[in-house]
Amino acid sequence: MPVTSVADRAEARVIFKQLVEINTTDTPQGNVTTATAAMQKRFLDAGFLPEDVHLLGPDPRKQNLVVRFRAAGAPTQKPVLFLCHMDVVQALRSDWSTDPFQFIEKDGYFYGRGTQDMKDSDAALVATFLRLHREGYKPKRDLILALTADEEGGKFNGAEWLVQQHRDLVDAAFVINPDAGGIELENGRPVVAEVEATEKLYADYQVTATNRGGHSSLPRPDNAIYELTAGLNRLAAYTFPFELNEVTRTYFTNLAASEKAETAADIREILATPPDAAAAARLSAEPAFNARLRTTCVATRLNAGHANNALPQTAQAIVNCRILPGHSPEETRQALVSIFADPKLGVAYVSSLGDVKASAPDRKAMVPPAPSQEGFAPLASWTQAIWPGITVTPVMETGASDSIYFAQVGIPNYGYSAIALERDDVRAHGRDERLPVDSYWKSLDFWYSFAKTLGGD
Ligand SMILES: [Zn+2]
Repeated sequence: MPVTSVADRAEARVIFKQLVEINTTDTPQGNVTTATAAMQKRFLDAGFLPEDVHLLGPDPRKQNLVVRFRAAGAPTQKPVLFLCHMDVVQALRSDWSTDPFQFIEKDGYFYGRGTQDMKDSDAALVATFLRLHREGYKPKRDLILALTADEEGGKFNGAEWLVQQHRDLVDAAFVINPDAGGIELENGRPVVAEVEATEKLYADYQVTATNRGGHSSLPRPDNAIYELTAGLNRLAAYTFPFELNEVTRTYFTNLAASEKAETAADIREILATPPDAAAAARLSAEPAFNARLRTTCVATRLNAGHANNALPQTAQAIVNCRILPGHSPEETRQALVSIFADPKLGVAYVSSLGDVKASAPDRKAMVPPAPSQEGFAPLASWTQAIWPGITVTPVMETGASDSIYFAQVGIPNYGYSAIALERDDVRAHGRDERLPVDSYWKSLDFWYSFAKTLGGD
C-alpha cells in the first residue's frame, strides 16, 4: 500500500489551505475564477502544456478549469474524468467558532468552509495530478480533471456548460465525482463505503387552480382552494410504481446481509421474481427505503387567495419530484395530471432558473448499468486496501449532483469521495465544517493508487 510521503502530504495541505481561503461562494465576496486560476497557475508552473490546461466558462467570475493528463502515446481507452465543483455554500463568520474562510488545523481536524464539501477532494485531486506528473507517470489513457463552478447554486453550472458546450474537453468513458459517497465511520470503525452509481432527477411542478372568485358571503361549490387541496389529497394517497435498477438491486442485495432478520426477509422478497408487493409496501414505510424504490412527488409549498373576505381566484402549490433514472420530467408531469384527475388543475414545470413552462423536458437520465469492472472494481479494491474489511456498495443517490449532466448524455458516473467521516459528523453546508486530518491523508493514498490503476500501471 503506497503511503503518501511527508513532502507530498505537505504540498497537498498547502493546496487545501489555499483553496479553503479563497471564497468561492455565489455572493459578491465570492469568486470561483480566483480559485480555478490559482490551480491553473500550479499546473502550468509544474510543466503541464498550455493546450492541456483550459480555463473557460460563460461568466468571468465563474471560470472552470479542465486539465488533461495526456496518455503517453496513442491512448488505449477513452479518458476518465474526475469531476469536482469548486464553489462552496455561504458561511457567516458570526455563525462559526472560527473564520470559515481561514484554514485552521486543531485537535486532529482541518476546519474551514469546504473541508467536507468539497475542497478536500478538489485539493487532493490537484495534488494527485501534480504528483503523478512530477514522478513522470505515463498513463495509457487520458486522465481529465474538471474543477467547476456553481454546483451549489448560481446561474453558471460548470458541469452542465462543459457537457453541452465543450463535450470534447470532458468526454470520457466514465466520470468519478467525489461530491458523493464515501466511507462511513462509527466510533472510528469503518462501516460501509458507499459509491453513488446513479441518482434521481430533481423536478419542480406548479399546480394551479383558478376561479372567477366572488364575495365570501356567497360561497359556491366551485372553489380554487378546495379543487387544489382535493387534487393534493389524491397525490398524498398515491404511490408511484415500485421499480428496481441494477444499482438499487445490488444495493439491497448487500444491505440484506447486514439488516435485522425481518427487514432482510422483506428485502429478499422484493428482489425475487416477481417481487412481493406486500414486502415492498412494508419496506416503504421507511422513507429512506421508499425513496430508493420509486419516484416520489410531494407538495412543498402553498399559496392561495387574496383577501380574507373573498373567494379565492387562484390557489397554487409546488410539488417537488425526485424521478427514478429512466423516466423524464415530462413523463412525471403527465403522471401528475392523471393523479390529480381534474382538468381544472393546471400542472406546469418550473425550471431550475424559476421559469414556468407548460411542458417539462423529455430528457431522461439513463438507467444505470451494473457497476463496471473497469471503474467500480479498482475503486472497491483500493478502498478495501486502505480500510480493510469494509463493504463497498453502489447506491442510488436520492438527492442530486452534477453527475446528472453526464448521465443525461449517457456517460456512466460514480460518486465517491474517498473521505472517511463519522456518521454523526456530517457538516457539509453547516457551521464549523471540518475534516479529520487522517481522512485527508488517506484520501491522498486512495486517489494516487486509484488514478494509477485507471491510467494503467
Ligand atoms: Zn458538494
